[in-house]
Amino acid sequence: MRKGMIIIKKAYTDPIIIRPGAAADMTDWLASRFGDGAGLVVCDTNTYRHAPPSPDKLVFGSDVTATDIRAGEIATAISERRPAYLVACGAGTVHDLTRYAANEAGLPFISFPTAASVDGFVSNVAAMTVDGRKVTYPSTAPAALFADADIYGAAPAALTASGVGDIVGKYISLFDWKAAHIITGEPIDADIYALEEDAVMRVMESDIKSADYTEKVMECLVMSGMAIQYMGNSRPASGAEHHLSHLWEMHCINPPTDALHGEKVGVSTLLVLEEYKRLAREGIEYRRTGGYFSHSRLNPVFGELTEGIISENTPDPFDGITAGHIAAVQASLVGLIGTLPDTCYIRDYLRSCGAKTTLTEIGLPDTGEFINMSLRYAPYVRRRMTLLKLSAAR
Ligand SMILES: [Zn+2]
Repeated sequence: MRKGMIIIKKAYTDPIIIRPGAAADMTDWLASRFGDGAGLVVCDTNTYRHAPPSPDKLVFGSDVTATDIRAGEIATAISERRPAYLVACGAGTVHDLTRYAANEAGLPFISFPTAASVDGFVSNVAAMTVDGRKVTYPSTAPAALFADADIYGAAPAALTASGVGDIVGKYISLFDWKAAHIITGEPIDADIYALEEDAVMRVMESDIKSADYTEKVMECLVMSGMAIQYMGNSRPASGAEHHLSHLWEMHCINPPTDALHGEKVGVSTLLVLEEYKRLAREGIEYRRTGGYFSHSRLNPVFGELTEGIISENTPDPFDGITAGHIAAVQASLVGLIGTLPDTCYIRDYLRSCGAKTTLTEIGLPDTGEFINMSLRYAPYVRRRMTLLKLSAAR
């Protein structure tokens, strides 16, 4: 990856304040922006104690998940209490729920992350489970973000380690964006690409033992979210590694696991890195058969979610791609794989941060069969082109 300047564009989310004591900044800002208008703070039983002074709070259980049913509970609270704004006081799930409900109600929301665990705080997509299927909705970005280092810096170490898992996944996300450019001609926004890359390098080049390491992780996660916000979708920050994580969250090939989002992404990044290195050694072919999107292939794995999977992949993401074209660009793809970091380097880095690195550690089967199923079926969960999607199409 390249080192460079951080590109600053006019942000929709403004201000973005990341520092010790940012909670007080938020209280002042809310008063100046909304006056007497009351807000509704969405939190859970773990983050409740960090909630800003406000007459109204909606407190979910600590095991809350981002489903349409839970978002409906926020919608009910909004219609009953008529707040002027929402505050997402928590980590990823609280943000997805708040963002989704704020977008539906046409209300502004403020991001107040309590852990450096995920990059979705300032993004404008909401990852929700609807009718059992994991869907990413275009949604609203927060009006402002206040990340108080005194609060997120004191979060359980496993949450920050999960944030690091989400960050190392960007090696694959950015790789897949370039691979898609080679495969389909999909355009790359150079500024947004550089922003995402700089965010990752800020963390990877800083000292894990330094006092401000967690602050670096939070800054990177927010920068990554801004890359998503500028792009209008998660392309800069989500590739094949996130598709494995989404597949596991759909519980089609595995039982439910309590693992955090970034823990799953950290482990899936290692699996995809290994797979891409193998492709570089053994060759990249496009060998899709007519049955790739057939019910008979998808039904045994996706069951009642099959129709949703087929509609996600419509129009056909492989339109215009030929075996001849892939043969012609194979050398470029192999060269690109050569720019990826070694799997050992990423595994050692994750371990040194206390992050999880094996399927067993995240509660999933550590077998060759499960890994093969994951690599083969994960690309179906999104239409987005990745090298894994191309190589799994057979
Ligand atoms: Zn993520």
